[in-house]
Amino acid sequence: MKPFSRILVANRGEIAQRVIRACRELGIESVAVYSEADRHASYLDLADHKVCIGPAPSLNSYLDISKIIAAAEITDVEAIHPGYGFLSENPQFAEICQSCRIQFIGPTVDNIRQLGDKAMARELAMASEVPVVPGSPEIVEDEEEGLRISKEIGFPVLIKAVAGGGGRGMRIAREESTFVAAYQAARTEAANAFKNSDVYIEKLIEKPRHVEIQILADSYGSVIHLGERDCSLQRRHQKLVEESPSPAVDDDLRARMGASAVNLAKASGYRGAGTVEFLLDREGNYYFIEMNTRIQVEHPVTEMVTGIDLVQEQIRIASGVPLRYRQEDIKINGHAMECRINAEDPSRDFAPSPGKIVDFRAPGGMGVRLDSHVYSGYTVPSNYDSLLGKLIVHRDTREEAILTMRRALDEFTIDGVHTTIPFYSEVLQHFHFVKGNLDTGFIEEYLIDA
Ligand code: ADP
Ligand code: ADP
Ligand code: MG
Repeated sequence: MKPFSRILVANRGEIAQRVIRACRELGIESVAVYSEADRHASYLDLADHKVCIGPAPSLNSYLDISKIIAAAEITDVEAIHPGYGFLSENPQFAEICQSCRIQFIGPTVDNIRQLGDKAMARELAMASEVPVVPGSPEIVEDEEEGLRISKEIGFPVLIKAVAGGGGRGMRIAREESTFVAAYQAARTEAANAFKNSDVYIEKLIEKPRHVEIQILADSYGSVIHLGERDCSLQRRHQKLVEESPSPAVDDDLRARMGASAVNLAKASGYRGAGTVEFLLDREGNYYFIEMNTRIQVEHPVTEMVTGIDLVQEQIRIASGVPLRYRQEDIKINGHAMECRINAEDPSRDFAPSPGKIVDFRAPGGMGVRLDSHVYSGYTVPSNYDSLLGKLIVHRDTREEAILTMRRALDEFTIDGVHTTIPFYSEVLQHFHFVKGNLDTGFIEEYLIDA
């Protein structure tokens, strides 16, 4: 049960900085890797060592397994933290780490294989008595089968890629006549984006909330949950604002959803931090949709209300330390909320806005946390996703959290590129947002002219 002395961080941006900070606090040396486009990133100076892994395109740097492993061998690390995105849910990468005797800080190879395939995860959920969205029992082989199942469960339906992620690989079929076109479009998008055209079918839940449960599991079979995050505020199935607790979840529902998430994790022999995602319908029924086998972008809201450092716990678990908390130790304190600040232009359909940041002034004060890697003079590269950072607030109540978030957004200055800050100021003023009346269609319905 030797704790690690050196870890390589196989990622970039705010999450690379987040992991480096956790390492420093645990007394672990960190190795940062960077592409040529990221050579001026300031967090590289927070790491103990840095290694260039190639040119700007991700395929030749952050997604190139041989380069990451070579950097790990050269710097003699004991473990690799993959962050989110990139190689974090790639079972082949986790397997190669294992065969090189480098600990992958995340779940087992089998966990990633089983849960990364959404149809397999769904089957496991059904077998563990976790409620799933009505739909196909497994992969849908052809149009006829898909149409038959859709008629059985009733339109509208959602055709989803088994390998989907980041909100891609999904198509709605509202009625029978549009099914075949939607089915083909979903398969084509899935083949292009994920090199896997397999799809399955779920009933389209109308105006649901997205409510997910954070879990932690150690290598000895102990699993706990850390309450929920409400991520209903989405644009094109991608999360923008997240909060904990959910305005729609009471203690009883939290206990039931938490137990479902823990059951699923136990059934798969899960290890590490993970998130079990559910949809919550208007009647208060919840349905499993998928499990993310990694740290999530929105993990800080859970950290704020539970007081538990999830990245440090991931590292401890990977080094073989048993869970330090029992379920009854987990208490939800106050209310936390996060806005994902992107370099995008909300007035131009959220088009990416790379370029040089000429002025960067961070908000601060009581209840404000900013996880960001950018600074005045930083150039946002056009090669990667446009996340500039996450603004997180933590106060006693949701009402106070909203006031603090509005104030922090007002203070936050980023000049030189377009950002989503003004968009969030609008969201935080909206009557229904303030009331907590949210569903996944909120932005399209109230804030974006179609
Ligand atoms: P989260 O719930 O953590 O916000 P997201 O779906 O927003 O999850 O994904 C986090 C990051 O991982 C984003 O950068 C997203 O583009 C990327 N990502 C997620 N799933 C995949 C996938 N299957 N393939 C490629 N990138 C993915
Ligand atoms: P991804 O892997 O891209 O994150 P998910 O299965 O988690 O895909 O779904 C992403 C989002 O798509 C959900 O948060 C929700 O907004 C929407 N969604 C997914 N499945 C359904 C469904 N059956 N009915 C309605 N909306 C859905
Ligand atoms: Mg998801």
